[in-house]
Amino acid sequence: MKPAATPKSTNTLAAKLARLGLRTDADFIVHLPLRYEDETRITRIADARSGEAAQFEVEVVDCEIAFRPRRQLIARVVDDSGAMSLRFLNFYPNQQKMLQIGARLRVFGEVHEGYLGEEIIHPRFQTVGAAQALPDCLTPIYPTTAGLGQATLRRLIARALERSEAANAMHDTLPKAMLKSLRLPEFAAAIRLLHTPPPDVKLSDLESRKHPAWRRVQFDELLAQQLSLRRAYAARRTRSAPQLMASGQLTKALLASLPFELTHAQVRTWREIAADLVQPHPMQRLLQGDVGSGKTIVAALAMLQAVEAGYQAALMAPTEILAEQHYRKLSGWLEPLGMKVGWITGSLKAKAKREAISSVGAGDTPLVIGTHALIEENVEFKKLGLTIVDEQHRFGVRQRLALKDKGQYAHQLAMSATPIPRTLAMSLYADLDVSVLDELPPGRTPVVTKLVADSRRADVLTRVRAACIAGGQAYWVCPLIEESETLQLKTAEETFAMLVEAMPDVKVGLVHGRLKADAKAAVMAAFAANEIQLLVATTVIEVGVDVPNASLMVIEHAERFGLAQLHQLRGRVGRGAAHSACILLYAQPLGQLARARLKIIFENNDGFEIANQDLHLRGPGEFIGARQSGMPLLRYADLEDVDMVANARRVADQMLNESTTQVDMHLARWLGGREDLLKA
Ligand code: ADP
Ligand code: MG
Repeated sequence: MKPAATPKSTNTLAAKLARLGLRTDADFIVHLPLRYEDETRITRIADARSGEAAQFEVEVVDCEIAFRPRRQLIARVVDDSGAMSLRFLNFYPNQQKMLQIGARLRVFGEVHEGYLGEEIIHPRFQTVGAAQALPDCLTPIYPTTAGLGQATLRRLIARALERSEAANAMHDTLPKAMLKSLRLPEFAAAIRLLHTPPPDVKLSDLESRKHPAWRRVQFDELLAQQLSLRRAYAARRTRSAPQLMASGQLTKALLASLPFELTHAQVRTWREIAADLVQPHPMQRLLQGDVGSGKTIVAALAMLQAVEAGYQAALMAPTEILAEQHYRKLSGWLEPLGMKVGWITGSLKAKAKREAISSVGAGDTPLVIGTHALIEENVEFKKLGLTIVDEQHRFGVRQRLALKDKGQYAHQLAMSATPIPRTLAMSLYADLDVSVLDELPPGRTPVVTKLVADSRRADVLTRVRAACIAGGQAYWVCPLIEESETLQLKTAEETFAMLVEAMPDVKVGLVHGRLKADAKAAVMAAFAANEIQLLVATTVIEVGVDVPNASLMVIEHAERFGLAQLHQLRGRVGRGAAHSACILLYAQPLGQLARARLKIIFENNDGFEIANQDLHLRGPGEFIGARQSGMPLLRYADLEDVDMVANARRVADQMLNESTTQVDMHLARWLGGREDLLKA
């Protein structure tokens, strides 16, 4: 596609356009209005309705600068039905000049009842000649950037449209029959309508984005996303991977040694994974399961299958604490079976690290657990068959890809405890197979959540102390202070000092992100061994920490946390048989959003349900934004539209089977150069 012609003085214009992602004609064509204004009609002043935007044609009868209550420009205008005022709190001399007595104006804005009677504050206006024709379509208002006016943007878009029509570049990427069955209009017609809607189109249909033209655009965008992700999926499926045929002896031995039976969900997901591992192409699967649903044992079984088949397996976790915990848990399970579990993190002493790495390279260590040191250090595997990434959303895209490179032909399993509603998963994870652990192990008593105002802190202290003295253990989570890590640390240290003083008969520990890795591990080990009863922590304990005896958690300033984070934190308790509670301390007054969040976490225990409500509360953009940095947002599509997402998936698979050219054209139109981002 040709780049749009840009005028000469344009370095700055081009830069502004680039900020909006506007380079080629194709980019301009799909840069669609945010909203519209109806300038096709003139409303009489007498018919103006308060709060509604309308256009008037008026004559100026008076104009003055008033100084009360502050400097402002006020013009009195009339038509043959009545009079009103135009009020400007900021204005330029040339605006004042345009408003001279006798001037004829077209004025657009919302009329309100002011203290001078009916008035419009800061109306848009232009002088008009006699019998100047009205526009014959609604006026689009585009998303723009500082210093780029609507008029300029409109002109550039109109030109791009003309050029594309002339060059036949508005062709449809979907066959007519398909459009008919989906009840969607043609691309060119939809785009034309959205840029220049005729006045008989209902403004409300356009603004709610329910008009068929909008639906076509939304569908196209979802389709582009599906095409891109499904194509990446198919491409990876053409690579080869070792078929990890296993005798089942080690997995059987492990299962026999466990003090519990697998849940149905664990059995089902384990089967799905096991079936992938014997395929001659790499597994690309995501295991989703709420906190505490028991993903680790499923991972261990998968790793054993690789080992039985004569390959190595690696498990990477996002934090030292979590990696260490996996290491302890897996060695506890597997060393009795005679297996060596390797351990590689950044904090290992040089010699130990060298030895660990060389043992992995020689193939003497079949199973390796670690942090991102696994990819950053020179770790070479002898025969890597499976890589597992825990809490995959915590890693950067680059790191995730790097672990894949270690075993170019290895199977890949990602695990996540951050549940995503089904439609979002279908959309975001279209390039993965997804297994869901939708059942918690039996015998858990649900965590009781309490909301307690800050002012009742003393009661909370009493309760925590009593629980610890009775043999229980508790977490005390310090507030999130987003602006400053130093401040967060300071608060944690102060809280620690306060609790030590308030509870001389309780052993209190402190863990935070600035501690050296071995110090951190020592504190966690002491807590796990019940040598510490009360653990003061920053959000470093958010993911994965598993100390079943801990049954009480206090979260300070709970109103500052996001829902996913609160759910993760709360998931640290309720892991044993004891009744557990989570006390959410909050500071008053609560904002509306914070109140809504606390209500959701108070009323729900199921992570998928919380994610659903979170999605409704914030909308897909923010919801995804928090999790998937680097994922360019869909601009127009509504990810909550289940049917449309499902249709896009179906049509994508059909198109990929039928026509490469159509697929390429569709992707070029909607993703342009952004396709790589979407895939990573
Ligand atoms: P997560 O999915 O959050 O990673 P974990 O794998 O850490 O959960 O498991 C949470 C706890 O539940 C662990 O102590 C684990 O040993 C235990 N567990 C896992 N599966 C079962 C089961 N089927 N029955 C009883 N306990 C289980
Ligand atoms: Mg886990």
